[in-house]
Amino acid sequence: MDNSNAKGLLFLVSAPSGAGKSSLVHDLITKDPNVHLSISYTTREVRPGEQDGVDYHFISQEDFEERKKNHEFLEWAFVHGNYYGTSRLWIEQELAAGYDVMLEIDWQGAFQVKKIFPDVISTFILPPSIEALKQRLVHAPQFDYVIINNDFNQASCELQSIIRAARLRYECQARREQALFASLGVPA
Ligand code: 5GP
Repeated sequence: MDNSNAKGLLFLVSAPSGAGKSSLVHDLITKDPNVHLSISYTTREVRPGEQDGVDYHFISQEDFEERKKNHEFLEWAFVHGNYYGTSRLWIEQELAAGYDVMLEIDWQGAFQVKKIFPDVISTFILPPSIEALKQRLVHAPQFDYVIINNDFNQASCELQSIIRAARLRYECQARREQALFASLGVPA
């Protein structure tokens, strides 16, 4: 994947189940409309209340295999007996259009994305108590940031802070504010 012209930032959030990741991510995207949430493809059954094209693109295993073969997925993984994948084309288009993109994916996918897209800003959400979760927490040190989801509002603010801080990183500002940097003679 050629990232040289990408204008938006790529974020990802992973968590062991029960850490409250989905609520945090949905809270973030309602508060920050410039962050667009990637809708994954999955072979799992639709759960009550879920909508095709909103929560996931629900597809058959054959369809998934076909898309995998055609390299349509930026990453894919087998999670709890079902396949999940992220659309490469959608991500590329959103980033090129200047939107920041959030992926909500498991740790296997997170590591694939990190390899393909080293600039991805990754966050691991930890639950406030370790009981019953110890087995699932071994992947945490590979992420850039950690949020402990003890108090929802605080965790939500922290996720927003990560997004805001990432937008202010030197290389990001230098890319977005090319003209200003040039006029001030600041090295880009
Ligand atoms: P659920 O089926 O409960 O919505 O999600 C199960 C797990 O799959 C969660 O950990 C979720 O983050 C992960 N997941 C959802 N979409 C993707 C995806 O596109 N790629 C990967 N690798 N994991 C995903």
